[in-house]
This record gives sequence, C-alpha cells and structure tokens, in this order.
Amino acid sequence: MLELLPLSARIDSGELTIGGIPAPRLADEHGTPLVVYCEETIRAQARAYRDAAPGALVVYGTKAFASVAILRILAEEGLGADVSTLGELAFAREAGIPGDRILFHGNNKSDEELRFAAEAGATVVLDAPDEPARAAAAGVRRAFVRLTPGVEAVTHQSIQTAHDESKFGLSPDAALAAIAAALDLGIQVTGVHFHVGSQLARVEESLVAVDRLVAFCDRAHAELGWTPEALDIGGGLGIRYTREEKVPEIAEFIPPLVARLPDVQVVLEPGRSLVGRAGVTLYRVGVVKESGGVSYVAVDGGMSDNPRPQLYGARFEALLANRADEPAEGVFRIAGKHCESGDVLIDSIALPRPRRGDVLAVPATGAYTLAMASTYNGVPNPAAVLVAGGEARLIRARQPVSDLLRFER
Ligand SMILES: *Cc1c(COP(=O)(O)O)cnc(C)c1O
Repeated sequence: MLELLPLSARIDSGELTIGGIPAPRLADEHGTPLVVYCEETIRAQARAYRDAAPGALVVYGTKAFASVAILRILAEEGLGADVSTLGELAFAREAGIPGDRILFHGNNKSDEELRFAAEAGATVVLDAPDEPARAAAAGVRRAFVRLTPGVEAVTHQSIQTAHDESKFGLSPDAALAAIAAALDLGIQVTGVHFHVGSQLARVEESLVAVDRLVAFCDRAHAELGWTPEALDIGGGLGIRYTREEKVPEIAEFIPPLVARLPDVQVVLEPGRSLVGRAGVTLYRVGVVKESGGVSYVAVDGGMSDNPRPQLYGARFEALLANRADEPAEGVFRIAGKHCESGDVLIDSIALPRPRRGDVLAVPATGAYTLAMASTYNGVPNPAAVLVAGGEARLIRARQPVSDLLRFER
C-alpha cells in the first residue's frame, strides 16, 4: 500500500503516519473528513518534472486542486499555473504567480475572463474562431492557439480532450485561421498547445499528438511564415489509484515527448501527477452492518468530497490508519453518508474488521476530489492540511454549516 501513499508515509507501531504525524492524531485534531497533503511529495513531483524537461515552463493544472498554499509551494519550485476561470485565476494571483507564468484556457471564455486574463498579463490559449477578435477587444496581448490533434487518449471518455469531435481546441485549418486573425489584430501569437486527456497510462497517443503538432507548425511556417516560440504539450499523466494499476513515471513519460519537439520553449501542464499521490483522505468509520451478504462500512463523507467513483467509475484502495498492521479479516464495501445507494466509495476492499471510530485512509485523493466537492445533501466541504517534518498546517478550513445558508434569501 505504501506505493500508493505519499512519499513521507510510514506504518509505525500500527499507525499510518504522514509527514511524521500519525494520521489518527490528524483526524482527532482537525476532524474528518480531512484531506492530508504531503509537502515532500508535491515538491518531489515538481522536481521530477523539472529534471525530466530541463528548461521547460511547467504550469500546474490548477483545476486538480485549487489551493493557494499548494500553488505557493509549486511557485517556489519554479512552476506557474494553468487556469481556466476567474476563480482559478484568483487562486493563482493570490499565490503570487506572475502573469508570464499563467496560461488562461477555456473552450468558452467570457469577456470578463478575457479582460481579467489580459490584466493579469496571462497568455490566453485561443480555443474558438471568434476568440482572436474577442481577445483583442479585451486587451489580450499574448496568446497560444489550442490545436485538436485528433487522437483518442486511452482513458475515461469524459477526460479525453483531443479527439476530432472534442469541444476543446481547433482543427488544423481553424487553428491556422485563428493564428492569422490574431496576428492581424496585433496579438503576439507565441505558441501552440494541445492536451490529449487525463489519467493517461501510456505515452503512445501523446507521441502521435506531438508529431501532429510538429507537422502543424511546419504548415503554419509554409502558409503564414509563422513559427512558434513555445510548444505546450499539456498535462495528463496519470497516477496509480490501485496496486494493480501501472502508470509510467514522470521520468519515463516526459523525455520521449520532449525529444520529438524542435528546439523551442517547452511548456508542460501537469495537474493530477503533481498532487494526486500527495493527498490522502481520512474518514471516521460509523455504522458497520450486513445487508444481503454485503458488509457495509459507512464513513462520514463520500460523494460530496470525492465524486470520482460516480463520475468515472474510479476505484480506490483504503487502509485503517489506526490499525494499519492488522491482517485483513474480510471484504467490505465502503459507503458514504449521502442519501443515494450509488454513494459507494469502494465497492470491495479487504480490511481488518472495521469498528466505529476507526480512521479509514484513502490514498491517491489529492487531485480531482476536494476540487470537485459539492455540498450535496447539505454536507459542507472538508478541511485540508499540509504536513511536513512533524508539523501540520491547515490550508483549507472546514466549511461551516452556516456557510451553506449564507447565500439563502
Ligand atoms: C485538466 C488540464 C490539464 C491538467 O490535466 P492533468 O490530467 O491533471 O495533468 C492540463 N491542461 C489542460 C488544458 C487541462 O484542461
């Protein structure tokens, strides 16, 4: 299980510790559900990207988990931010990310978003035929264009983003037209971007996309006399959620892609692979009961703090953080507390027989979990702490119930 947990995770006297702190103590002190982020893992992943592509600009795919504290850590490691809404831009600016390290994406940017992106000095990634004119009117000075390379990533269809029918990006013809239009309007078009999808477990489709990107640039040179200063090959590298899953390391996935690019500024946009493994969610076990031959273990969260099982059929593993060295005694179904039978976090997992009050730890929950949290069933969002060297720092306060009533009129 340690291979799914953050780098600082240990099993010590029967307890899971992260960043030198026993997880049960974190649960007692901060309440549950609680997302625990390991600073060492975040920094190690950022450095792995720097080492895999020296000189590249690495921008964090902020949507994986928008956190000012984590953006600051990544900024210390030299990273920027990839944002796609006013909200994500606000997180990046609050973290002090300079405009020249912010990329503003989106398949349907509002005029307001374009204006704020321009004001921040961000590079706007043009994604629609009418966007050059709208961007110019909003004062955008620098832009990339998003190419749809026409490849189908091997991943859940909701997170494929580069196939021919994708809502994202522009076909080669439309992308050429967008570059020409933007240049005519006085926008500096400095790069071309693609992003093939998320939770990628193999490099093949990305290699094809890189080749199509390079071919596109040759065409842009031939037809418009335009050459890019930067090529942005997106993010998408997956992480391991279960022990049987195989996913390449950053050091295996990135270098073959970069090797096919011409000698320009390379831009990378990882999200999940920076923060996914760094996060562990702690839940308190409540009701344990049998139903039709299934042993249910109910925890104090579920689909409101981690909707990935419902959205993508995602699978997770788990351990009892306070009894981490005990042998498995049975197979259990981990259910959330929401009023839907589909609110199942883990369909089947071997554990020591859980008891009320145990702390269940779910690894690999640092990306697209709290980031996708809702307040369904009137359940407020959990807190998050960052741990390192025996210290825990609250980076996201637990949402109080009063917050749910704040906008009621
Ligand atoms: C979501 C997204 C990313 C990050 O994807 P991960 O799979 O989390 O690495 C990068 N770039 C764009 C344009 C995205 O939409």
